[in-house]
Amino acid sequence: MRVVICGGGVIGACIAYFLARRDIDVIVVERTEVAAAASGKAGGFLARDWCAGSPLDALARRSFDLHAALPSEIAGDWGYRRMTAYSGIVVPERDRRRHLLAKLDWLSAGAIIESRLGTTETTAIVHPRAFTAAMMSAAVENSAELRHGRVTGIVRTADGSSVRGVEVDGGVFEADAVVVAMGPWSVMAAEWIVLPAVYGRRSPSLVYDTGGDIPADALFLEYQEETGEAVTVEVFPRANGHTLVTALSDEPPLPIDPAAVMTDQNEVDRLQVIGARLSPALRPEKVIARQACFRPITQDGLPLIGKVPQIEGAYVATGHSVWGILNAPATGEALAELLINGDARSTDLSPFDPARLRPLDPSRLRTSGGKGLKVI
Ligand SMILES: Cc1cc2nc3c(=O)[nH]c(=O)nc-3n(C[C@H](O)[C@H](O)[C@H](O)COP(=O)(O)OP(=O)(O)OC[C@H]3O[C@@H](n4cnc5c(N)ncnc54)[C@H](O)[C@@H]3O)c2cc1C
Repeated sequence: MRVVICGGGVIGACIAYFLARRDIDVIVVERTEVAAAASGKAGGFLARDWCAGSPLDALARRSFDLHAALPSEIAGDWGYRRMTAYSGIVVPERDRRRHLLAKLDWLSAGAIIESRLGTTETTAIVHPRAFTAAMMSAAVENSAELRHGRVTGIVRTADGSSVRGVEVDGGVFEADAVVVAMGPWSVMAAEWIVLPAVYGRRSPSLVYDTGGDIPADALFLEYQEETGEAVTVEVFPRANGHTLVTALSDEPPLPIDPAAVMTDQNEVDRLQVIGARLSPALRPEKVIARQACFRPITQDGLPLIGKVPQIEGAYVATGHSVWGILNAPATGEALAELLINGDARSTDLSPFDPARLRPLDPSRLRTSGGKGLKVI
């Protein structure tokens, strides 16, 4: 069996790894570079039980365990470490009325920790770009092929009932099965196969060089801007001495080329002001990357993982929203089982069946003023 995976983000890389480990012939086609999009720019935060009570719970728990096991199974260092997670609030420095659960010395006096959300038993972090690259390298070591190219269509057998391969830069890569894992760009595949809508939601983030002084605590802080707007700021100190701060989001048109995703200067400026208010360690001169990325989301907020209706051999794995780095290993493992055995044993994929949502009518997919794609 030969499987072509469209997209070299964290989802494509994990599917490739779990297929290649079972001796399946795999080709990953990536338009830009591995982890070029959200998979290289995410927080990388992992939580075992934050999806409890939702259909994502089993996928998240299985994936959290796989993340814990992978460092001893494959080569590379992607900064996996357990951490604590806290929520809190940022108030004017004179306001001391709030209850202080724990004092984090590196934060400014106005940043108040109110409750603990996770412990080293339940929360962890990876460097998402390094993790994605390590999974792809492990797949390649198991004979998967990584090819640079732009997927522009799915090729069907003469009677149209099954996939025969994918169209890449004017040529065809023959395949028995095709997996669409192009993050928010998966929406383009609605013109090739029956697929529900996938939307892209953009968020900016700043990466600071904070050195080794910041403890392994993820922070989720409520912050009120001068305009009165309330935002949640997420702070993720990584094992490599860098700290990622993210907040805010919008839904501009999705650039057709993933390499053309840009930051909005206004949003970056807002985020820099927030960072400086949180801690002297987050001063603007400490910023080493200003970036933005689109996370893939679906109509009901759950990912699409499984067989695509009406065509044999077509699969999709996208729409992981804010939990794509967490849920990538269990997605890869379960989809590989589905492809090889006909059913997924490690995680029940039925809540993520692509057929649960109405397919997108391709005429609703528009290029908006030359700026990018929009579902109207
Ligand atoms: C600011 C931010 C913070 C986040 N933090 C976290 C977090 O802390 N924890 C967590 O679990 N998740 C987090 N996420 C979510 C996570 O980043 C995403 O869910 C995940 O990266 C999606 O991975 P993907 O492989 O589906 O898509 P992507 O990473 O978007 O990868 C898709 C790939 O497909 C390629 N591609 C596109 N079109 C084509 C084509 N035509 N042909 C070939 N290749 C193509 C692209 O170049 C890209 O490399 C965060 C997201 C954002 C935006």
